[in-house]
Amino acid sequence: MSKASSESSSTAKISSFALIAIIITLVVAIMALFNAVQAYLMGEVDVATILLIVGFIGVGACTYMLLQMRQRIIRLRIEMPPITTTIECRKCGFKTVREFQRGDYIFKEVEPCQKCNEKMLITAIYREVREKMKATFPF
Ligand SMILES: [Zn+2]
Repeated sequence: MSKASSESSSTAKISSFALIAIIITLVVAIMALFNAVQAYLMGEVDVATILLIVGFIGVGACTYMLLQMRQRIIRLRIEMPPITTTIECRKCGFKTVREFQRGDYIFKEVEPCQKCNEKMLITAIYREVREKMKATFPF
């Protein structure tokens, strides 16, 4: 789990920096909208129109960036396949697969077999390769 948490914290570092930039842009855009209202009330219609356009573009850009960022985070989460542990019974060959747990290592003795009650061994620990990645190989 320590590896996964370090990966997610580096992702959070990048996104928090982008988030600050987006929030600053959003604040500026909202200020432009407030100034537009003020300018309109003062009779400065031209200035009000420009500020209104700037404000709306700013808010729109921020919304777009936030949605993009959210999608990227979701994609990163999907692209991180889970680590799988294969457990095998030496006596009857019964095989079971479960999610990797902290402290798992190959040839570690784990819970008894469901069929013959013999101690089972971890025979493989691997990250599941997605079908899409296999398909990129030409052979
Ligand atoms: Zn067994």
